[in-house]
This record gives sequence, C-alpha cells and structure tokens, in this order.
Amino acid sequence: MKGNEMQEKEELFAFIERAERNVLEGKELERAELIRLLAIDPDSEACDRLGQAGRRVASRVTGDRAYLWGAMGVDYKACPMNCDFCSLGEAWGIVEPDHERDFSETEIIENVRDYAENKVRWIVLRTTEFYSLEVLSELIGKIRRAVPGRYEIGLNVGEFDLEKANALYRAGVDFVYHSLRLREGRDTRFRPDERLKTLRAVKDSPLKLVFLVEPIGIEHSNEEIADICLCAIEHQAIVTGGMARVPVPGTPLGVHPQITENRLAQIIAVTRLAGGSRVPDICVHPATPKAMCFGANVAVVETGSIPRDSCCLPKEKWNQFDAQTAGEWFEQAGYTLYAGPEMQ
Ligand code: SF4
Repeated sequence: MKGNEMQEKEELFAFIERAERNVLEGKELERAELIRLLAIDPDSEACDRLGQAGRRVASRVTGDRAYLWGAMGVDYKACPMNCDFCSLGEAWGIVEPDHERDFSETEIIENVRDYAENKVRWIVLRTTEFYSLEVLSELIGKIRRAVPGRYEIGLNVGEFDLEKANALYRAGVDFVYHSLRLREGRDTRFRPDERLKTLRAVKDSPLKLVFLVEPIGIEHSNEEIADICLCAIEHQAIVTGGMARVPVPGTPLGVHPQITENRLAQIIAVTRLAGGSRVPDICVHPATPKAMCFGANVAVVETGSIPRDSCCLPKEKWNQFDAQTAGEWFEQAGYTLYAGPEMQ
C-alpha cells in the first residue's frame, strides 16, 4: 500500500472511532458524516470497523436485547398503486385474479397466536393500499380477546390523517409501520407529501412509529439513503434500520440485483450510529448474521402475502426464516431474544 493510501486509511479509521465516541456521548451525527460512512467500501477492513462500532453502540443502547417483528400479509390482492418493486402491483400481473384471497379471521388469529407464542414482540397486520381500516380496527379487538399476551399489535396500511390515527389508537393499535420509501414518487405512484402527511399524523398521535430505510437497491445513492434515515429519526421512529429490495422477476425493478450482504450490514451499522439512543431498536430485513453483528437487534418473520415474493404463505414463514432461527442467530451475535421490554 502506498504512503498516501495508508494515510487515508488511518484517517478513515480515526473518523469511525470519532463517530462512535460522539454517538456514545449522545451527539447526533450529521448528514455529511452519515454519507461518509455510507461511502466506505462494504468489503473493506474499514467497513468491518464500522460494523464493530455499530455492534458496540447496539450493546450500550439495547443491553444486548433482541426482539422479533412478525409481519402478516393479510390480503393477497393485486394493488392498483403499482410500486415498481412490489409483487402485488396490479400492472405486473403476478397476482392472478383467481388466486386473490384475504386471510380469514381464524387464519389471522391463529397466526397472531403463533407469533405471540414464539416471542414476537411486534405483530403487524400488513395490507395492500386500500384495505378497510374499519375492518382492521374491529379485528384488533377480536385478536386481543382471542390471544392474551403482552405483544404489541400494529398495522402497515395505506394513508390516513390524524383523526384516523387517533381512532386506530383507541381501537387498540399500538404502532404503525409507515415510511417514505426511497425514490418515492419515482419508483412509486405516491406523492411524497402524501406519505409525509401520514407520517406526521402518526407522530402527532399516541401511535408509535416503525420506519425502515427501504427498499434499498443498488440504484440508490448514499445521499438518498442518509436522507431517508434522517427522515425516520425526525419522525421519532422507535425502530428504524434497513430493508433490502428483493428483486421480484416481472416487476420493473426486478432486473436489478439485490444489494450484497456486506452492503446491507454496512447500512445497518450506519442506521445504528445515526439512531444512537434516540432510536433504540434497529431492524434488518431480510436478516443476516452479519447485520446482527453490525448492530441490528430486530429481525422480521413474515407470513401470508409477501410483497418481496410472488407467493402467499398461509402457514409457512417466508424464506423459512422463523423465530427459532432468528433466536439462534441473535444468540451467536451476542444478544438474548426477549418477547418484550421486560419479558424474556
Ligand atoms: S408496496 Fe404497497 S402500495 Fe405499493 S403496490 Fe405493493 S401493496 Fe400496493
């Protein structure tokens, strides 16, 4: 290695150390700092150092507690919003009309029971854009009555205003998954301000927000990733992190390969440092052991209709990634899986 390359490397190591120290002292990293961390070569020694910093911050912030997120795709339906990465987009013709179906109430309740019995802390009912919020609100009460436990229940649904957010909270909804997606309005048919309005409604209501940087692809710049990460923090997400775009053949973005495991782990480490003590829990999807070693303490177990795949899985878990596998991976990465903040 030449002298100036060596010097650059040393400077980068020192920058990572400084960033970690600042985060541990409660300082917020600036956008330019996040971009510099995201610009590190994901296959380099410097990136390994970044990951170790992410893991140390995770230890300090979470006490090495890991949690599970259980997502259930309630309706397997063609969605008229046609997001360029989603298998459910009507225009891509992947969901055939005669295969469309909604989970029955019994199936939903049974899946919630399965999650609750397997230490899933956050259980989320996910739907396509126009699923009735009234139906879901009613369902929440039925689920609570049928499945006892201290799990938290949430929704990943379409757009809504503050009045609706308050009504969802009164109906028993604890949290909402919502995000401003990368290239919203370009790779999706949504106006970014519509999505931001819903995010503001959640922030102004008692609902908690979960907002990952997603769906990350090779097409996204470090600046775009940093901006969405800061947007999640600004909207007071209690969980952020990173979700890779899984290329679904037949969707417009399905032609681009998925980001590498190392790149996803790097982004996790950056979201961990960016979140600091403000966003205690960092989620990776799809989970990898490396991302956990880089600071992710939340993993997703999915069932039902999956926007990342062309299938609907009424009973199985997507990619065969279940609570037990997640627990083993977390343990190998030095965490202990908890069912909730005070429960093991
Ligand atoms: S991501 Fe959501 S809104 Fe977009 S097409 Fe898929 S289900 Fe519809």
